[in-house]
Amino acid sequence: LRSRLPQVGTTVFTVMSALAQQHDAVNLGQGFPDFDGDVRLIDAVNDAMRAGLNQYPPMAGVPALRAAIAAKVEALYGHRYDADTEVTVTAGATQAILTAVLCCVHPGDEVIVLEPCYDSYGPNIELAGGTVVRVPLTPGSFRPDLARIAAAITPRTRLLIINTPHNPGASVWTRQEMQQLAELLRPTDVLLLSDEVYEHMVYDGRPHVSAASVPELAARAFIVSSFGKTYHVTGWKVGYVAAPAPLSAEFRKVHQFNVFTVNTPMQHGLARYMADPAPYLELGAFYQRKRDLFRQGLQATRLSPLPSEGSYFQCVDYSALSDLPEAEFCRFLTAEIGVAAIPLSAFYAEGFEQRVVRFCFAKKDETLQLALQRLARL
Ligand code: PMP
Ligand code: GLN
Repeated sequence: LRSRLPQVGTTVFTVMSALAQQHDAVNLGQGFPDFDGDVRLIDAVNDAMRAGLNQYPPMAGVPALRAAIAAKVEALYGHRYDADTEVTVTAGATQAILTAVLCCVHPGDEVIVLEPCYDSYGPNIELAGGTVVRVPLTPGSFRPDLARIAAAITPRTRLLIINTPHNPGASVWTRQEMQQLAELLRPTDVLLLSDEVYEHMVYDGRPHVSAASVPELAARAFIVSSFGKTYHVTGWKVGYVAAPAPLSAEFRKVHQFNVFTVNTPMQHGLARYMADPAPYLELGAFYQRKRDLFRQGLQATRLSPLPSEGSYFQCVDYSALSDLPEAEFCRFLTAEIGVAAIPLSAFYAEGFEQRVVRFCFAKKDETLQLALQRLARL
């Protein structure tokens, strides 16, 4: 078989989680919580199943969930999406991103991604026949460099993918940066995919600036989020896309022949649970405490933490203690120290090394403490 993705192997997250298990290491690699979602949410899903809500839902998603999503986005970001024509429930953000790319990228189109970036973006663009154009984020801070984005735009640019709060860099776009992006895109017909799966994890009083909150951007954007991140249920794989009606219509054409629909009882359970905004409004404080606990503990190690403004990731520079390339350092950390991490090189095109690895702090306090004890031996 001639591969559609000849450069692609198994994702680094799967590889590192398997290695962590093999060595009984504390897994701070793959991004997922080691604690469960709220029992009220689990009850809501169980109630939906027992109430017989187990057959196909409408193609775009259960109406009550789409209405709850539209209401939340309007309350937080001030943009009103029509729940019937502009919100689509997806099988996680992963499917949302692939479907958005497939519905608008034609062979030969260029798609700009800001590197480092989530590992699915590049292969998604290649599957659509597009060309990946990699623009670096500012080294060290992982902030967007608007001048470099502007310089990368050509008449063939079809789509720009951004991600805030950022995985793996944990940076958060400011309102000024979003406004600058709006100005930059104004004379173009470039579409925007804004991956906002960590929207509720922002720290130190910073706001999450959704592309939905900037009208000019909202008019050309697919906004993507994920309930897996927000409600500590990454295995449920439910997310959504909000986009203007013409974009949503094209999105749904691909969606209906991609997954057709997303599982019914979880959508009903999520709709019921969303009636209370407290769980997502309190998420920032919940994770900020864990971030602080973890960063505090890192002071007793020889690892230097980079800023973490949002997301549940903390990058560290290990250049003071090792010259090993990142992937090798992660294997050493996992096998010899008993803590798994993700090499930052996994988020770049082949070969970019900077002696930085990513930890996920979405873990019980005792898990973080055990990891810190082990890291202090470095
Ligand atoms: N985008 C980013 C930036 C992510 O970190 C993740 C999850 N690791 C996803 C998308 C995919 O989310 P989901 O699990 O809902 O498919
Ligand atoms: N998004 C998660 C991370 O960055 C993992 C998702 C996956 O395993 N593909 O760690």
